[in-house]
Amino acid sequence: MKKNDPASRIQDLRQFGEFGGVNPSITDSSTYTFLEADTMVDTFHGETQGCFLYSRHWNPSNKYLADALAALDETEAGWVTASGMAAITCSLLELCNSGDHIVTSVTTYGGTFAFLKNYLPKFNIDVSFVNIADLESVEKAIRPNTRLIYTESLTNPLLQVSDIPVLSDLCKTNGIKLIVDNTFTPMIVSPARLGADIVVYSMTKFINGKNDCVAGAICSSVDFINALSDVNAGSAMLLGPVLDPLRSSSILKNLHTLHIRMKQHSRNAMFIAERFLDLGLKVIYPGLESHPHHTLMKEIMNPEFGFGGMFTLDLGDHETSYKFMQAMQEKDIGYLAVSLGYFKTLFSCSGHSTSSEVPEDIQKEIGLSDGLTRFSIGLDNDIERTCEKMISCLKEMNIV
Ligand code: PLP
Repeated sequence: MKKNDPASRIQDLRQFGEFGGVNPSITDSSTYTFLEADTMVDTFHGETQGCFLYSRHWNPSNKYLADALAALDETEAGWVTASGMAAITCSLLELCNSGDHIVTSVTTYGGTFAFLKNYLPKFNIDVSFVNIADLESVEKAIRPNTRLIYTESLTNPLLQVSDIPVLSDLCKTNGIKLIVDNTFTPMIVSPARLGADIVVYSMTKFINGKNDCVAGAICSSVDFINALSDVNAGSAMLLGPVLDPLRSSSILKNLHTLHIRMKQHSRNAMFIAERFLDLGLKVIYPGLESHPHHTLMKEIMNPEFGFGGMFTLDLGDHETSYKFMQAMQEKDIGYLAVSLGYFKTLFSCSGHSTSSEVPEDIQKEIGLSDGLTRFSIGLDNDIERTCEKMISCLKEMNIV
């Protein structure tokens, strides 16, 4: 397989404004004129020929960003949405009809879990929750009416690594689709290249990297993107979670620095994870040999971007986690906040925040400890200094 270089694919894009501006012009229109009425009819029938109809359908700014995301993941096409949840829910609803069945990793982002568990039953869509690392149980869960397997490359918050090539083979054998949420590992993992049919993102996180907006993306085949945007039946077109063009133009600019940011997030997270491990702390990071899926991660990743910016530290109970996080915030290490992929370090106690939608008994069953503290490590220039500050908080609490 030739070297995979998502950063160069983005670098090579030739996208500039109609007046020669180095950045494409920002669309400031919700609707578009047609010189001939016939062309408008053709556009409604999906024969766009470079014409734009209405901004919820397509607009030039969103098209530039969608094309850049398709380049990131080497897919035929892309689509952008107003949130990561919109990318996930539109993709699922596009593929599933009443009476269908989904097999999903039990560890996913809490909002995704809630949609699968609490919302889809309204449409008579059944969901089996499995341990995605236990491939036998994944296979056993597939039924004649199964439409797809859903997983995250690196699951939130347990950081299990999904074996995308094997899951893809399983899907192909059973004639079903594989959807992979790659929010934690853009550039690091290229799910479509590994066999995923649909890649979804919360661009709110690493891709945008500024925590100044909420946005999502879908990368897939031309057929799937056309189906999503179909004026008569497309779930993205009809549910309407359109991303504001002003936002999409700013995300496109941030996408061009993603490779540099991912390398620095990874370098910093690895440094702290190694130090925490040396101190005997319960740290989970895919870059550590102690991680149960470390070898698999090495097999599927694009190594130059590192193992990512996310790790977890199990502090036993939420009281200890809260105290530690407050102490870190007081020392200006980062912010006690949900979300991730920011230039500053963010930390939250998963079971009591972004996974609080997962019932307590399931949290226990999957090993989501009450004190599991999730870190999204920032772009700190001097990570040794940050690490020393973190260790001083742990010392003050007699944890180390
Ligand atoms: N996927 C993952 C892995 C997430 O962590 C999140 C949000 O935290 C989402 C999807 C949802 O994205 P958004 O908040 O942009 O709707």
